[in-house]
Amino acid sequence: MAKLTEEQKAQRAAARARREALAAEEKDHRDTERREAWAREGTRLTWDEYKAGVPCRGCGEPMYDGLGSWPGLMYLTEEEKRDHEAMEERFRQLHPDCKSGRWGTNGSRVTHCCLCCPPPPLGPAQIEKLSRLFQSFPSAEERKKDLDAWELILTCDHVTTLIQHRENTYVRRVVDCPECQTRRGVVDSKRLGPAYTDEGVKAARSETEQARLAAELAKAKEQLRRQQQRAAATGNRIEELQKQLSPSAPGDGPA
Ligand SMILES: [Zn+2]
Ligand SMILES: [Zn+2]
Ligand SMILES: [Zn+2]
Repeated sequence: MAKLTEEQKAQRAAARARREALAAEEKDHRDTERREAWAREGTRLTWDEYKAGVPCRGCGEPMYDGLGSWPGLMYLTEEEKRDHEAMEERFRQLHPDCKSGRWGTNGSRVTHCCLCCPPPPLGPAQIEKLSRLFQSFPSAEERKKDLDAWELILTCDHVTTLIQHRENTYVRRVVDCPECQTRRGVVDSKRLGPAYTDEGVKAARSETEQARLAAELAKAKEQLRRQQQRAAATGNRIEELQKQLSPSAPGDGPA
């Protein structure tokens, strides 16, 4: 069987990256639309509703059934197995085509669909914890030294810059495109270096400089190759002319 050339492999990888970026973009659009619909239709429960036991507005099931989490499946009694199977069957009936993930609350057995059911509201304790976490964050100025700039190529072929914490070695799969003013999938990404320090600017500059030098080198090599070709042709021509200048007649060799 014929093997793919390096070029064909690169083409296929690029096509795959584009396909995946478009799929991520589509999913992001669907998620955004769903969140907007939940906001419009008031699907999410307030904390008070949640505490009062109002069922999920996505599927109608209770948010919390107080039955405790399931023990591992292999430890279920016969009765629990039947209950478990009945719950699974009910979930399949409620979400026949959702093909999405599930979520549940601690201490509860009922599960909800990531597509149909908005997640439970944050309670005062969680909000308090989050705000304490935010307060302990270093200031925006402090954080700058830990931020890296990335260059992203999007599905619309626009190139944009993303700034994120250095510990993130991957970029998000979908970002806002400032040109298109919409969310776009990321086809390709490259870390440029620190976003805010002098070195960051230097890194970006040296990268451009490196690219310029590489292009110049390639051009010089091509020039040399052509000059060598011409030199070889000239050499051949000289040899030819020399032969014509002193023809050695047959039988005219040294006696
Ligand atoms: Zn639900
Ligand atoms: Zn569903
Ligand atoms: Zn764009």
